[in-house]
Amino acid sequence: MSTSSATTVDAKSATSDAGSVEVPATPTQLLIGGEWRDPLSSGPSVTLPVNDPATGGVIADVADAAPDDAEAAVDAAAAAFTSWSSTSPRQRGELLRSAFDLLVAQADEFAAVITREMGKPLDESRAEVRYGAEFLRWYAEEAVRATGTARTAPDGAALHVTIRQPVGPSLLITPWNFPLAMVTRKVAPALAAGCTVVVKPAEETPLTALMFAELLREVGVPPGVVNVLTTSRPGQVVARILADRRIRKLSFTGSTEVGRTLLAASANGVLRTSMELGGNAPFLVFDDADVESAIEGAVTAKLRNGGQSCVAANRFIVDRRVADDFVAGLAERLAAQKIGSGFDPATTLGPMINVKQRDRAIALVRAAVADGATPVLLDAVEAGTAFLPPVLLNDVNPDGAIAKQEIFAPVAPIYLFDSEDEALRLASDTEAGLVGFIYSRDAARLMRAATALECGMVGLNRGLVSDASAPFGGTKHSGLGREGSEAGLHEYLETKYISHPFSAV
Ligand code: NAD
Repeated sequence: MSTSSATTVDAKSATSDAGSVEVPATPTQLLIGGEWRDPLSSGPSVTLPVNDPATGGVIADVADAAPDDAEAAVDAAAAAFTSWSSTSPRQRGELLRSAFDLLVAQADEFAAVITREMGKPLDESRAEVRYGAEFLRWYAEEAVRATGTARTAPDGAALHVTIRQPVGPSLLITPWNFPLAMVTRKVAPALAAGCTVVVKPAEETPLTALMFAELLREVGVPPGVVNVLTTSRPGQVVARILADRRIRKLSFTGSTEVGRTLLAASANGVLRTSMELGGNAPFLVFDDADVESAIEGAVTAKLRNGGQSCVAANRFIVDRRVADDFVAGLAERLAAQKIGSGFDPATTLGPMINVKQRDRAIALVRAAVADGATPVLLDAVEAGTAFLPPVLLNDVNPDGAIAKQEIFAPVAPIYLFDSEDEALRLASDTEAGLVGFIYSRDAARLMRAATALECGMVGLNRGLVSDASAPFGGTKHSGLGREGSEAGLHEYLETKYISHPFSAV
């Protein structure tokens, strides 16, 4: 069965706690070749439930794609590639600019859907919409700036010209923690470059991605340029797509574990890959830091998105001489958080994505305490809910599991150090290499430490680095490639070198 207008679901009607907030209806079908349609083989009865993190209740059922649907999506992306890649950069840029304008106009509606399916407080969802929209504006501007080069060969016999061309139909896989921004961060540069895409959003948060796909349709993105598959079987569906020789690129944001598997699966097709994987960010506080400002930055770096961010501060590495002040101030700020539904205007910390993720974080905390950490904030938790009040642990053993893994929760472990060398050694003692934060009033020390940290991004005296105009990405096991800035566009472009003999001019 296929329909050209979306079957929608009113996510509010299925739940109780949206209060007076209007949660708009979103599409629930697959978007393939410009049409909203049910899965090919299974019909509308095969669906994937979407849960409210605050209550666990089902808020929507979306289409559950099978591998055959994946093939149909690749057919559509491949068919649209020839015409889309030959549109002018200005045309593509103006469509992205229209998408930016419409997204900004619909910011409240998108924020409500993000809070509904992901749980974060509405203000944070609005901030995600602003952040996510910036990728559309940035790449609307970058679409016309994919420059090439020309150089006379050293022997003077030829002109070497390079041009940039779209890499081809691309598969974009996104996680649940930023249901909109992780999609726009990939779709905007891909479309700007002239690529067509198949988007596979996370099972937990498909509604925002579907709503965004409808927005792109509304502003006139042609059929087949953006296709969306929601599925409960990401392994099977993605395997089918990666085995298809028409797909030339994989851009993945998610866990390092799944990223490794996908890198291996991309080897057969020798795909271009961009990998935005897990982090384990150190947050260094030196004895010459402005401690008040460090506490402020720590709250942002820890609690943004409820701690469920790849750039969340995962290890607070603090000079023993300022640790008492830092810990006391951070404890006060964490204890003051108001925990509740993201729709309650008083809430500053919503539920985690689900009970499983919360209980995983609790297990890490228990192990750290058993290993000698001093609990500073450790409230009792209610079984069977996804809510977790902030946890603060002092003097944590840097060899424990909590230091090695991404906590992905509002849990702040403090590690103490006595010298700059020790701090830098602890900071880079991890497989991850995404981001680091450094607090100090000494400019030379800031640059020394920023240069030494083994990671792709560093925040100096600030707890937030994400910006559409900056190259976001990691080193080591945190990934390959960059998103945002002009670098994000190059992830979707191939360089072609053309040698032109002067004798032929
Ligand atoms: P995840 O790896 O479990 O899932 C991410 C995506 O991969 C989802 O769409 C999922 O359906 C899909 N997936 C899962 N198994 C798959 C398989 N076998 N084959 C193909 N696709 C598969 O990650 P998550 O729990 O959704 O997200 C949290 C992780 O994402 C964290 O590790 C976080 O650090 C990371 N993340 C990284 C960045 C970054 O830019 N570096 C940004 C946000 C999140």
